[in-house]
Amino acid sequence: MTSLPVLPVVPRSASIERESLDALARDLSSAVAGEVRFSHHDRMLYATDASLYQVEPLGVFLPAGTEDVVAGVRFCAGRSMPILPRGGGTSLAGQCTNRAVVFDLSPNCRRVLEVDVAGRSCRVEPGITVDDLNDALSPTGLFFAPDPATSKHANVGGCVGNNAAGARSILYGRTSENVFGLDVVLADGFVARLEPGAASRHPRLHRLHREVADIVLAHERLIDERFPKTVRRNAGYNLDLILAQLRSGRGVLDAINLDRMNLAHLLCGSEGTLAMTLGAHLKLHPKPAVKGLAVLGFASLDEAMDAVSPILTTRPSAVELLDDTVVDLARANTEYRRYVELMPAPARGVLKAVLYVEYFCASAAELDDRFSAMRDQTPGVASQTHTDAKAMLNAWKLRKAGEPLLHGIPGHRKPLTFVEDNAVPVENLPTFVKEFRKVVERHGTRAAFYAHASVGVLHVRPLLDLHDESDRERLRAIGVEIADLAKSLGGVMSGEHGDGRIRSPLLERFYGPELMAAFRAIKRVFDPADLLNPGNIVDLTGDHQRPIASMTEQLRIKPGAQQLSVPRVDTYFEYDDQHGFDAAVEMCNGAGVCRKKTGGTMCPSYMATLDERHATRGRGNALRLAITGQTEGGTTGMPAWNDPDTIETLHLCLSCKACKTECPSNVDVSRLKAEYTAQRFKAQGRPDLKTLLLGNVRLLNRIGSLMPGVSNAMLRSRLVRRIMNRVLGFDARRSLPPFASSLAGSFERGLRTHDARRDHRGDDTRPVIVLFGDCFTMFSEPRIGRAARFVFEKLGYRVELADAGCCGRAMISMGALEQAADMIDATIERLTPWIEDDRVRAIVVAEPSCLSAMKDDWLQLKLQSPRRLRRALADKCFLPEEFFERGWKEHPRRAILNAHAGDVLLHGHCHQKALWGAETSAAGARRVAGKDLCVLDTGCCGMAGSFGYTADRYDLSQRIGGLTLYPAVDAKPDATVLAPGTSCRHQLHDHGCAAMHPIEFIAQAMT
Ligand SMILES: Cc1cc2nc3c(=O)[nH]c(=O)nc-3n(C[C@H](O)[C@H](O)[C@H](O)COP(=O)(O)OP(=O)(O)OC[C@H]3O[C@@H](n4cnc5c(N)ncnc54)[C@H](O)[C@@H]3O)c2cc1C
Ligand code: SF4
Ligand code: SF4
Repeated sequence: MTSLPVLPVVPRSASIERESLDALARDLSSAVAGEVRFSHHDRMLYATDASLYQVEPLGVFLPAGTEDVVAGVRFCAGRSMPILPRGGGTSLAGQCTNRAVVFDLSPNCRRVLEVDVAGRSCRVEPGITVDDLNDALSPTGLFFAPDPATSKHANVGGCVGNNAAGARSILYGRTSENVFGLDVVLADGFVARLEPGAASRHPRLHRLHREVADIVLAHERLIDERFPKTVRRNAGYNLDLILAQLRSGRGVLDAINLDRMNLAHLLCGSEGTLAMTLGAHLKLHPKPAVKGLAVLGFASLDEAMDAVSPILTTRPSAVELLDDTVVDLARANTEYRRYVELMPAPARGVLKAVLYVEYFCASAAELDDRFSAMRDQTPGVASQTHTDAKAMLNAWKLRKAGEPLLHGIPGHRKPLTFVEDNAVPVENLPTFVKEFRKVVERHGTRAAFYAHASVGVLHVRPLLDLHDESDRERLRAIGVEIADLAKSLGGVMSGEHGDGRIRSPLLERFYGPELMAAFRAIKRVFDPADLLNPGNIVDLTGDHQRPIASMTEQLRIKPGAQQLSVPRVDTYFEYDDQHGFDAAVEMCNGAGVCRKKTGGTMCPSYMATLDERHATRGRGNALRLAITGQTEGGTTGMPAWNDPDTIETLHLCLSCKACKTECPSNVDVSRLKAEYTAQRFKAQGRPDLKTLLLGNVRLLNRIGSLMPGVSNAMLRSRLVRRIMNRVLGFDARRSLPPFASSLAGSFERGLRTHDARRDHRGDDTRPVIVLFGDCFTMFSEPRIGRAARFVFEKLGYRVELADAGCCGRAMISMGALEQAADMIDATIERLTPWIEDDRVRAIVVAEPSCLSAMKDDWLQLKLQSPRRLRRALADKCFLPEEFFERGWKEHPRRAILNAHAGDVLLHGHCHQKALWGAETSAAGARRVAGKDLCVLDTGCCGMAGSFGYTADRYDLSQRIGGLTLYPAVDAKPDATVLAPGTSCRHQLHDHGCAAMHPIEFIAQAMT
């Protein structure tokens, strides 16, 4: 334990005036090393977590390290400023929203300090995520067991705060069963290590332990009587755990031994109200030797529930439930559809519920025995068993996405988190489900069920519309009735997600006034000035009664007196696929999947900065706040299209489209960003000069390629470059791609326009491939177009070049949507004869971002061109290497492909990965490279059109490239690198790595 001087505690001022915030920010900045953010915009980005609530914090502090946390706590204590500790901000009950200074520990307090392999323990800082910790532990064969569904982005500090547990808690328990001790700073700045024996180490700690013990012992009988006995319980403070510590092995109190107490366990589930965690000493477990997963399909939810108890006799590590609502949503989701295929259909009836039954075993033989025992216990039930790691991971991905997927349900009623966390004894689950259904039906709605069935925790989300006052009333009524139902069945309304704003008002009803008084006494022992996350779990102010009505106070849609709604806007995009513009704006539920650091592409700017502001969630919040008029000085109901903070927050979005598919709720920031920017341009009259210049990249390229030698000489001139940097904001370190003679020169004149085409065809009956002349293939890298022509002519096609105009990609990404729409309509008009010509088998587009414009944005934009035509075009458009694969299958003997020797690395373009997957390039390349082709999981390259050119984004662009792409290509310097995206090839070029387009690779191998 480190003992530091204790600062005097000043009573908390009733309110901190807004005008004094600037002064406080200044003072805090000078007292700490970390970053202090007190602007309205920055504060509002921390006003929400994954719950229904929104509370504007006082300020945001990003400590530079754990010592800085202590300095910050002392500063706040000295000024009586409330404090809200925060990790991933994925709480569902609103416990991570408060009128306080938010301490975001996730960016800089995330080190693994020590691993004791023999002792199976480790010490970590609180901001590390569960998955990062387990990745770091991987070589030791040990792991930290609590595995909330949010393990990729939930922090250890947040797991302690919420006493998190996951699917395997039946084997490993909750966080409290996996914590040996905690390093904490108390609300007055006193630093301590809480673990057995701590009471003897300092008079202050002795007093703390003594007072807690007195409170617990004074309520011994009531704790025994009223605390739930379920494996999962997370309501109020863990007085039952402290009582168990004080009792001897025989379960009776013989002598009070304070050194037996471990107050770390009391802090688990205390939701940041008792102390700030600075470090955790965690228990580790050996990884199981063999894992297996059975997936069981049922024709009804009741049948699935009835099967749980028999299955538990086979000693599974987890039994998880998904109901038909979640399964149907997954089927409709681009990202998760494929995981539904893992599920078996019941012999009779339609699939209505699924149980995942997982086994951890010492050997394969033992696993076989468990699987057959399970089948014996579930006769006639359709099941599949998996032992392959990838198949199991895929199945779990669907379970983990259960909650966010529910937010995709159409209509105004959404599946809300307020009775989502009940735990009842497993044998009472079927009754609980039946009665639960009756309650929601009586209130005129329905609910989706998914659960940690093995421990009786049922996550149920009734569908309600918070914009509707009568539904808000229903929320309160259902909340109370379900809490009473859980209690009547020996359970509790907070099984793992905690109390927060939604369930703290129900605690008195559950525990009674005496235990509530005990909880308040505990809070006073730790935090007499009520500075730490005040009002959560217990309320020390007023008459201590938290009215049930407070469950619907400070909701996101009604944070103050006035209800907020998205105003009617004449939008540039359609939002039918998102259930309307208003739903699109409110789509983000805060679950934080976009805060993952590895795997996939979303969200490159967060991965590089670890800054909430630059995560998809930060941008989703910024857009929602601006569009609903919640900006500084904004007017509710009036969108703030010109808010400088929102513009700045959107500035680091790469418009990579990854969130469109990787976010389980399909929050589409690239579309919303373009819409927001276009509305701003409309309000200000027209786009700025830079946008217009960069948006007209085709015209610039066309001019440059007229006399490429001269143009390139000019590009090399220092003066020209300086002017370009000044006007376009380019970074001097960025190379500029040279111009080339237009690709059109390689094609006979008649093949460039459809009108003249017929004259040149003569008797030529070959099927036609149209090569769309995108700006890059036409004027910078015509060799790619020539390669495509070579490949398709070899396969027996006639290739025509469509010099039809621009796809508008640059304009769309920069939000010049009015101008883009005109440009696109003109291009579609020129393409129409090809679209309608049956002899045209495909229109191939070498640049994936142009293809994504044609297949995705063109369908969503409000254009003059008929939708039917746009749909037909989208169906006819392919990457050249993608269509090569089809052509090769149809005409395999027309050409010879020589096998390539040596490693080949493929880096897919972000739009390609988001919309169609990298396999669209890989399949063709694999015909040449065979097993030597490696499809990289490299996320974004960091270039993203003009993003990486600009001086204010160049460094970030390089950091993003350095996350995975550069290390991957540097690790194999002799490999051939393929990248279909022009930007990606450019980024790699500037990194010193030459990459080629996959169609060039195929052409090289073809004879
Ligand atoms: C889709 C979804 C699924 C979920 N599934 C599960 C699940 O399976 N099991 C489960 O247990 N939970 C689950 N949760 C809830 C939540 O994700 C977990 O409890 C998670 O552990 C919270 O971690 P966090 O870092 O996001 O914590 P935060 O939300 O940041 O904080 C949680 C609480 O701890 C406090 N806190 C954070 N850091 C500290 C610190 N250093 N010192 C003191 N107090 C601190 C906060 O003030 C807050 O009260 C789920 C949430 C979502 C959105
Ligand atoms: S943007 Fe998507 S992934 Fe991120 S918090 Fe919102 S809903 Fe979750
Ligand atoms: S478009 Fe890309 S960079 Fe922008 S928020 Fe989505 S994932 Fe992040």
